[in-house]
Amino acid sequence: MKLLEDKILKDGVVLPGDVLKVDSFLNHQINVMLLSQMAEYIYNHFKDCKVDKVLTVEASGIALACLTAQFFCCPLVFAKKSKTANMQGDSFVADVYSYTHKTMNHIEVTKKYLSVGENVLIVDDFLANGEASKGLISLVNQANAKVVGVACAIEKCYQGGGDSLREQGIDVLALAAIDKMEDGKITFRNS
Ligand code: 5GP
Repeated sequence: MKLLEDKILKDGVVLPGDVLKVDSFLNHQINVMLLSQMAEYIYNHFKDCKVDKVLTVEASGIALACLTAQFFCCPLVFAKKSKTANMQGDSFVADVYSYTHKTMNHIEVTKKYLSVGENVLIVDDFLANGEASKGLISLVNQANAKVVGVACAIEKCYQGGGDSLREQGIDVLALAAIDKMEDGKITFRNS
């Protein structure tokens, strides 16, 4: 999505440790107009699938997922991160390693918000190693629901998470796909 690529080139900052900072428009201050157009782009890609729920993980995926759910006229569910397993009986639970924080997070969704047979679209801000997506897919599988696809704002292709999901037959949509970030210079796939 050219609009997002241009915004990343203009306002994104490459930090040490291969982290792209986009908090001026995506995950701290939010450019709602841009995210709304991104959500529409996701909708156009998946509109022929019957999407019953959009699923993300708190916190930074929520804004894009929320706007995406609005296009599908369906609920957004966000997995909560918690340090204890005290709701285990009532929740679907997965462990996710956080790339940015270098910590293991326990993510969970109350069982009543993911039901057998539902079509679930996973949406997140970044797709890097794919840990967050794999955790969310695990929650959907535990519910005996179906993943219709994974959509992310920014895929860091060189970390391999997106391609590993594609190899499993999952429809992965990246609105901006980064092939490399070297010396602060960002190169997009297909550009
Ligand atoms: P993954 O689990 O695919 O390795 O990483 C996805 C999660 O890590 C996203 O939910 C996102 O919050 C965070 N993340 C991964 N890479 C970056 C990055 O370069 N910049 C930012 N801001 N977050 C990232």
